[in-house]
Amino acid sequence: MADKIRVTVWGENAHEKVTAETQKLYPDGMHTYIANFLNTQDDIDARTSVLDEPEHGLTEEVLAGTDVLTWWGHIAHGDVDDAIAQRVYEHVVSGMGIICLHSAHFSKIFTKLMGTPCNLKWREVAEREVLWVTRPGHEILQGIEDHFIIDHVEMYGEFFDIPEPDETILISSFEGGEVFRSGCTWRRGAGKVFYFRPGHETYPVFYNENVQKVITNACRWAKPAGPRVISTCESPELGWFLK
Ligand code: ZN
Repeated sequence: MADKIRVTVWGENAHEKVTAETQKLYPDGMHTYIANFLNTQDDIDARTSVLDEPEHGLTEEVLAGTDVLTWWGHIAHGDVDDAIAQRVYEHVVSGMGIICLHSAHFSKIFTKLMGTPCNLKWREVAEREVLWVTRPGHEILQGIEDHFIIDHVEMYGEFFDIPEPDETILISSFEGGEVFRSGCTWRRGAGKVFYFRPGHETYPVFYNENVQKVITNACRWAKPAGPRVISTCESPELGWFLK
């Protein structure tokens, strides 16, 4: 079969050290849990990297060998080195796919890719979320019909201060009445970007089979079509391409 999709699951791995509920739900860390469910798929080869590793586990070599990077961060966005965020950005615009999960909306890499504040409303009272399909048949929504429900979540509400997505494939409604664009895609340079809202650290959101399905499908959607595409800025002489 074709080469497997090489996925690097990045986790800040900070709540895992200080938050009891997170430790209980994800004793090996959210990043390990995510990599494990991805690795049940024959076409995916997932590995993990965390903040505490040298260069946050995102060396040039690791990124060059990554088709799709998934990103989860929350309380340690500021600890991500600007130079590493820039390195990730350069890989995205040259073709690496990236999936930003939940509180990654405030990560250095996501806000850089968006160019907007990425603010939103939030409330943490374990309310119900219904995620409605707005692009039936989309590659990321294979196996998802009409809607799915997560019983206990942190609410995220509009206005979500992002640039207009290329595609809004899921819209959430919450018990409290707010709505949110929960599944959004963009292209940045040669790379594909997917933002997916679910993933709060104190609820078993990543246990949800539909959440797993969307993240898995998103890895397939976001994988680059070919080798990295490096854009250049130059000033060739007239008629150079005719020679
Ligand atoms: Zn959260």
